[in-house]
Amino acid sequence: MAEISKNDWFYEYFTETAKFGIKIKEHLVDTKSEFQKIDFYDSYEYGRFFTLDGFIMLTERDEFIYHEMLVHPPMAVNPDIKDVLIIGGGDGGAVRELLRYPGIRHIDMVEIDKMVVDLCREYLPQTACRLNDPRVSLHFCDGIAFVRNAQESYDLILVDSTDPVGVGEGLFSQAFYEDCARLLAPGGIMINQHESPYYEGDAREMERAHKKLSSVFPVCRVYQFHMPTYASGHWLFGFASKDREPLCFDAQAWNALGLHTDYYNTELHRGCFALPNYVLRRLAEA
Ligand code: SAM
Repeated sequence: MAEISKNDWFYEYFTETAKFGIKIKEHLVDTKSEFQKIDFYDSYEYGRFFTLDGFIMLTERDEFIYHEMLVHPPMAVNPDIKDVLIIGGGDGGAVRELLRYPGIRHIDMVEIDKMVVDLCREYLPQTACRLNDPRVSLHFCDGIAFVRNAQESYDLILVDSTDPVGVGEGLFSQAFYEDCARLLAPGGIMINQHESPYYEGDAREMERAHKKLSSVFPVCRVYQFHMPTYASGHWLFGFASKDREPLCFDAQAWNALGLHTDYYNTELHRGCFALPNYVLRRLAEA
């Protein structure tokens, strides 16, 4: 839930009794698509940012953390990744990071809401800048149906989705994970939103996602990163594969690529899979 106060503060409610505020300069877009409420803002601290149904999706200031952690860990683990499927990801940040690797052959991006992509192209060129690359095919349809019907195989699937409510709900279902597993090539990896372990509602979603994923994939790990504008600032991705372990990777080879990153590095890669005890316990009990 979101609230705009009279003196130009945007608030996202992290729980019913805790909210996070950003002082806004300008409300740039206030609209509704067939699927969700869409708002774009300009702010003092976080630059431009956009929300779907009142939830912050990304800000110019901290999106690098989310997109680097979504893309670089799997690319370091399997440097032969060529064909990628992105579910969601309408802001283009995942595509931008992936296309920094010359080995990427093709990306299918399946975004349910074309209006998100059109608005990001207009207001967030920082993330949407590579969506016109000839290696990218954009599909404006439901990711759940896309994976159910797809016959292609992918080396990497990135589930860059909204939270498990509304149109994003089915992207956290066991049937969806089973379809993704079927589409993964040998050595393939799937990264998905794993929510936050901190607030109770999000932590329950984390447990549910982990339980379902663990019943589908032999390798099912969780890693963490610091995301200032998401609930609690402590966020998780899931790393799932039939045959790849996230800590089996060639750090030297990744470093030799010479990619400039602002968050990800190969030491952090090793560290981000080490989780706090309360998170480990909840995952073990899931
Ligand atoms: N970084 C963001 C976050 O975690 O808050 C998520 C990025 S946002 C671009 C996620 C996108 O997933 C939205 O644009 C939304 O339209 C899309 N999406 C939600 N449900 C979907 C579905 N069933 N199929 C395809 N795209 C979906």
